[in-house]
Amino acid sequence: RGGQAQREIPFAQPGSLTKVYAVASGKGGVGKSSVTVNLALAMAAQGLKVGVVDADIYGHSVPAMLGVADERPTQVEDLIMPVPTPSGVSVISIGMLKPRRDQVVAWRGPMLDRALVQMLADVYWGDLDALLLDLPPGTGDIAISLGQHLPGAEVVVVTTPQEAAAEVAERAGTMASMMHQRVVGVVENMSYLPCPHCGPEHRLEVFGSGGGDRVATTLSQRFGYDVPVLGRIPLDTALREGGDIGRPIVEADPTSVAAEELNRVAGTLT
Ligand code: ADP
Repeated sequence: RGGQAQREIPFAQPGSLTKVYAVASGKGGVGKSSVTVNLALAMAAQGLKVGVVDADIYGHSVPAMLGVADERPTQVEDLIMPVPTPSGVSVISIGMLKPRRDQVVAWRGPMLDRALVQMLADVYWGDLDALLLDLPPGTGDIAISLGQHLPGAEVVVVTTPQEAAAEVAERAGTMASMMHQRVVGVVENMSYLPCPHCGPEHRLEVFGSGGGDRVATTLSQRFGYDVPVLGRIPLDTALREGGDIGRPIVEADPTSVAAEELNRVAGTLT
């Protein structure tokens, strides 16, 4: 929008009533997007108005997980309308800003910054109770931009129990804190596999153990405030399937341990 003043980000205004949560991780594949969409749906089921920003430049898998893989946002004058999902949340994805779906997002800092601001300021979100952002893994440009534009965002760090994942997750959390964002807690995903043979009380520690506690303890010590483990989500085929078919597990299999744990985490955030 050449020459025109940039629209302000409503969530950055003093008095904004929208809680903003950025979901971060140290590396990819730990379930950050799965956690984001399930928390969003769990909050919506509590009656909240929820928006989701998919800012993961590498994955942008959120629309598919929410059942709107092929939808594009519409435009009303110079405002972008977010895509409504079957479960009643609104979503915008960095993938939707690309001219073609199969294109890669080969953008650098300034372009990424613009894309992020566009998703926050040029999208008509209406009055949201909560906005969840799925960040790219790591400590890159998007995380820095978000910290600059929305220092009030609270950060949820997702890790697996694995040592290597926890170490990089700590870095993602530390970076958020350097951007003056508060880290509200850690979600340990893929915590264990309830044994399919001898019964669910026998837990197979597929990715080891201790990652969630390690990140929570390190960040608590580093920041001088309590960073709790908010929840431990087991490995569950239904969780993966729910993502694949666009029907997250909190909706598709709400009585599963994974769904109950995700609902509980959502409850502690709202
Ligand atoms: P990230 O956003 O961290 O890259 P995703 O949420 O895309 O990770 O998850 C990576 C893959 O692992 C997806 O196929 C997802 O369905 C699967 N997955 C994530 N969490 C679980 C879980 N607790 N149990 C089973 N599969 C999971």
